[in-house]
Amino acid sequence: MSDVRHHRVYIIGSGPAGYTAALYTARANLSPYMATGIQPGGQLTTTTDVENYPGFPDGVMGPDMMVLFEKQAVRFGLEVVYKMVDRVDFSSRPFRLWEDDGSEHTADAVIIATGATAKYLGIPGEEEYLGRGVSACATCDGFFFRDVDLIVVGGGDTAMEEANFLTRFASKVYVVHRREELRASKIMQERAMANDKIEFVWNTVVEEIHGDGDKVIAATLHNSKTGERYRQDIGGYFSAIGHKPNTDLFKDLLDMDDVGYLKVASPSTNTNIEGVFAAGDVGDPIYRQAVTAAGMGCAAAMDAERWLEAQD
Ligand SMILES: Cc1cc2nc3c(=O)[nH]c(=O)nc-3n(C[C@H](O)[C@H](O)[C@H](O)COP(=O)(O)OP(=O)(O)OC[C@H]3O[C@@H](n4cnc5c(N)ncnc54)[C@H](O)[C@@H]3O)c2cc1C
Repeated sequence: MSDVRHHRVYIIGSGPAGYTAALYTARANLSPYMATGIQPGGQLTTTTDVENYPGFPDGVMGPDMMVLFEKQAVRFGLEVVYKMVDRVDFSSRPFRLWEDDGSEHTADAVIIATGATAKYLGIPGEEEYLGRGVSACATCDGFFFRDVDLIVVGGGDTAMEEANFLTRFASKVYVVHRREELRASKIMQERAMANDKIEFVWNTVVEEIHGDGDKVIAATLHNSKTGERYRQDIGGYFSAIGHKPNTDLFKDLLDMDDVGYLKVASPSTNTNIEGVFAAGDVGDPIYRQAVTAAGMGCAAAMDAERWLEAQD
């Protein structure tokens, strides 16, 4: 007798995309099965207030919101396991997946919702003050930084965009860049340079974030050209050095862009393998918001449901 378990729909990942896909497939009687991965609830479990998810007029704590997501999907029959998927084989159907305890599963359809991880410099103070002045998302957190000075680290388009956006709230934004020129496109550079609330700090790295035990208050900067090391008072620090989509598992199996984001055949959530769908940050280099991830989760569930029906 085989120990292999079969599922109609296997969902990899438990952020807003995964749970929304679970809710929709559960309510379509597809008995979804989900492996949460090492971060049950996804990225929002690492933050405090979420003020831009519709339906919560007073805001909601990220971890609390993800408990509600899980509860709602489980109510309709989602089966959740707190495990990682560490190998997949999509070369034939049913698809095969292995979890980190060695158990093997098969599935008629797979929804990938493994998210993306913001990159940080890894300097002292960064992790300690994450969500308390350290952020990697201006759209998410900019609103919390009124009338304070901020640092944005990075030299690409994302850094320029984040810096420009943050000037709506902050008194001043220092863009700290380790080189003397930017990687950002010319138009983004020009826009940032024309913004009189932005000051560029060239040839400089941030070495440490300082807080008062509660929130960020300063950073140590080091100019690699002059050797000068100094303390800059700030009220917040934004890392804008890129994201890493969680797609190592699918390397050489699914089509990805240069950074590793899964390619989906927009407006659908189809990957290049029929029956394998992608939702949320893992396939979205642009928006990366909880509400867009949830929207893609809904779309992936509906795509999977229709595809399965066409196979039957
Ligand atoms: C600090 C912070 C604050 C934020 N604040 C906001 C905000 O206020 N508003 C907003 O809209 N957005 C916010 N975001 C962005 C938002 O969190 C993301 O856009 C959203 O979580 C993406 O959802 P997702 O479902 O695509 O993936 P994620 O939330 O990234 O979840 C990915 C899931 O995949 C799982 N996984 C990964 N690999 C595997 C594997 N091999 N096997 C099984 N599971 C796996 C992980 O464990 C995780 O559960 C914030 C992000 C951060 C980091």
